[in-house]
Amino acid sequence: MKYKRSSSLFAEAQKVIPGGVNSPVRAFKAVGGDPIFVEKAKGAYLYDVDGNKLIDYINSWGPMILGHAYEPVVNAVVEKAQKGTSFGMPTEIETEIAALAVAMVPNIDKIRFVNSGTEACMSAVRLARGFTGKDKIIKFAGCYHGHSDSFLIQAGSGAVTFGTPNSPGVTEGTAKDTLLATYNDLKNVEAVIAANKNEIACIILEPVAGNMGCIPPAKGFLEGLRKLCDENNILLIFDEVMTGFRLAAGGAQELFGIKADIICFGKVIGGGLPVGAFAARAEIMDYLAPIGPVYQAGTLSGNPLAMAAGLAMLKELNKNKEVFNSINKKTEYLHKGLNEVLTSANVKFTINRIGSMISVHFSEKPVTDFASAAEANNENFKIFFHGLLNEGIYIAPSAFETWFICDALSYEDLDATIAACGKVAKTLK
Ligand code: PMP
Repeated sequence: MKYKRSSSLFAEAQKVIPGGVNSPVRAFKAVGGDPIFVEKAKGAYLYDVDGNKLIDYINSWGPMILGHAYEPVVNAVVEKAQKGTSFGMPTEIETEIAALAVAMVPNIDKIRFVNSGTEACMSAVRLARGFTGKDKIIKFAGCYHGHSDSFLIQAGSGAVTFGTPNSPGVTEGTAKDTLLATYNDLKNVEAVIAANKNEIACIILEPVAGNMGCIPPAKGFLEGLRKLCDENNILLIFDEVMTGFRLAAGGAQELFGIKADIICFGKVIGGGLPVGAFAARAEIMDYLAPIGPVYQAGTLSGNPLAMAAGLAMLKELNKNKEVFNSINKKTEYLHKGLNEVLTSANVKFTINRIGSMISVHFSEKPVTDFASAAEANNENFKIFFHGLLNEGIYIAPSAFETWFICDALSYEDLDATIAACGKVAKTLK
């Protein structure tokens, strides 16, 4: 495959956009080479500016559960756009999508819409602090909750000690209120809580981690966190930006049967438009302005185009719950196929999967947290990524990401992907 026009567009972009991209992981830094500029997408396929057709395993980092340019979503947006794109006033559709989300997701009475996953998580933490009257939060190394200051805390610092900023611009003052813990390690969380008695407002986590590859929660981990939160008057925040409306209609709470106090959404809930949301029981949500003291706002929040796309998407998922089975089965098929071809190529690998989220780590050890994910062979990942690209398969350009399966993928696409993986695996070290 040739990517000449993508490379020349990237050169132009770099003159006027920092690094040529509006979100860093797109720049292919982790894998090398120039990013691909996309022209359009339909169903399971991306079409780039050089005329290449690629099978897409990112799906806009999750939301395209039903495939790209899904007609009910596109039609809903087009229809709404003709009536005006933003008013900064209430619209009926906001209540409609809120009511549907509340009906689909367990343990929530009210939901507020924002414009990104970052905003959702940032606002959820502020609400947790306001509600509990405590300042500190626990986050897990390797979990990503967007780019707001409190979350950009270096992984690997001692968990019981204060975090340190890993991005210039995040102040020490902010960093000291974020306590780091190790994913899937309840003893570690217990120690962090014990060292900060009565100071912790919330524990925030991805109930299935998707930002260090895919890492499912170990048996008992989520249950253990729930118990620790109950015993210590701490709110449990599930960041379901990736898992919400994907692992089940009711997300990870439904799948695992665990009740979270605040749930954050993004991407999926906007059908691929810039949307996020956070939700909780009424007692917590009513702490928000205009009825409560915790301030949170947004000119474009509840934007009619975003709400139309999100509503069309959620209606489809709610109507056709078989979709969840279908994407799970497709992912299971891919898992089995990958396992076979990687085994016969004799490379060291670990595949993690839950539902329609899957990732390959080039490590023979179990990958259960950030440290074990970081131990994997990144050189092999780079070869794998570029080899697959050359075969017309687009996976995330970093080993610290998850593959998302959409229902538009056919079994022929999956067979082609497995065959390509087998071919590329033979070139790995
Ligand atoms: N939380 C999780 C779990 C995410 O995966 C992401 C984005 N990948 C975010 C929050 C931030 O969302 P956004 O990029 O929309 O701000």
